Amino acid sequence: MTVRTRVAPSPTGDPHVGTAYMALFNRVFAKSQGGRFILRIEDTDQARSSAASEQAIYDALRWAGLDWDEGPDIGGDFGPYRQSERLEIYRRHADRLLESGAAFRCFCTQERLDEVRRAQQSRRETPRYDGHCLALDPHEVAARVDRGEPNVVRLRVPEEGDCRFEDGLRGEIVIPWRQVDSQVLVKSDGFPTYHLAVVVDDHLMQISHVLRGEEWISSFPKHQLLYHAFGWPMPAHYHLPLLRNPDTSKLSKRKNPTGLNYYRRSGYLPEALLNYLGLMGYSMPDERELFTVDEMTAAFDLNRVSTGGPVFDLAKLDWMNGHYIRALTPGQFMDRVADWALNRDNLSPIAPLVQTRTERFIDILPQVDYLLGERAKLTAADFEHKTLSVEDCRRILDHAVRRLETLDDWQRDALYTAIKSLADAMDIKMRDFLSPLFIAVSGRAVTLPLFDSLAYLGRDLVRSRLRSAIEALGGVSKKEGKRLERSYRALV
Ligand code: GLU
Repeated sequence: MTVRTRVAPSPTGDPHVGTAYMALFNRVFAKSQGGRFILRIEDTDQARSSAASEQAIYDALRWAGLDWDEGPDIGGDFGPYRQSERLEIYRRHADRLLESGAAFRCFCTQERLDEVRRAQQSRRETPRYDGHCLALDPHEVAARVDRGEPNVVRLRVPEEGDCRFEDGLRGEIVIPWRQVDSQVLVKSDGFPTYHLAVVVDDHLMQISHVLRGEEWISSFPKHQLLYHAFGWPMPAHYHLPLLRNPDTSKLSKRKNPTGLNYYRRSGYLPEALLNYLGLMGYSMPDERELFTVDEMTAAFDLNRVSTGGPVFDLAKLDWMNGHYIRALTPGQFMDRVADWALNRDNLSPIAPLVQTRTERFIDILPQVDYLLGERAKLTAADFEHKTLSVEDCRRILDHAVRRLETLDDWQRDALYTAIKSLADAMDIKMRDFLSPLFIAVSGRAVTLPLFDSLAYLGRDLVRSRLRSAIEALGGVSKKEGKRLERSYRALV
């Protein structure tokens, strides 16, 4: 058997360190077995997926050196590798499930489903579909479909007993069927959900081993039902541990930078990042901490993956990155610094801004310090303003983070429009509104134009600077966070 593994990111938002983590283990395992590593783009959530985000995934994984043998951009024998191009395949498979009775059409309205959920919650039951459309007469179903009545396709789930399955890392897992919902497999817009698409694709792409995050364990019973319904053998499944913040909560951008671009832009070497990720839930047979991906591949042993939640510790990553940097020869060091940022491509967006403000070349570096370097550490005193209080500054920064989070187009003009409309909605003069932003982003009150700076820095660095500025202003308690969320929602 040829070992075939895959990583299957959804192109929504910025490429995540979790994607690199999954790609690393899948790639290392496949290569250790002489197998193939596949990249599949899971873009069935049309509202949230974007071509820019897909491109960003390619760029980030290639930067990390995690290249793939088959994928949407390079093709392969099992394509298409982009789920939105496989709708016909899912439709055919959904029809098979409807014919065999493994799935059924459901016409319930959102209002009805909400009501059922509320009633279940008030009885303290696990919310799940109540089986309302299971017993519909097939003629009635056909007539309603012919009339064009909106419907979804749901999975039929046993009422009684337990689902048992083998996880390659965790042994037998038992989940009572009562806890498993009649999952929607095809949405009313005809798009499949993750659950149908992942099973169909893993089978048709001949994936032999699925290494994915532990958050999918609870979905496994649904997938098992689907494999059985299709009469397909199941790939081996290994649910890897989730990366965690130092407080052991799930790694989240609220507490740690999670965007791969943050690490790239900050000047982490990909080999250091991969080495660090290789230590997450894994140790080399000789327990050494410093190793390359090739060394990890040569010695890889799936049995050495542990399931305790590994903590993604920035201080340790910094130490490791410093080690890799110091191990470079002077020539390599200069090349790597140039690759990182000091090159024509990277400098060209800011060069025109700087040129018009420069009398002597010696004036250049002080203007771009915060764009190419870390910005200075801040204290609340840095934000002092004649009309804005500390609370005002926190609210402005908090709302700016929330607004920028959902901005798809990270270009200067789009950034300006988003911030301007937020300032208007908050009834704060733009001039005042920008003051804490300037300081949070650059550490200074006078800088190159702010919106060019935001565009240049990118979402990940901007987010982390705004967040650390909020901390410098005293931080936000849980209670205040809730209040800010409400106040933001009322504006947009
Ligand atoms: N699209 C899923 C995700 O983004 C993939 C999960 C899987 O590997 O099955 O996490």
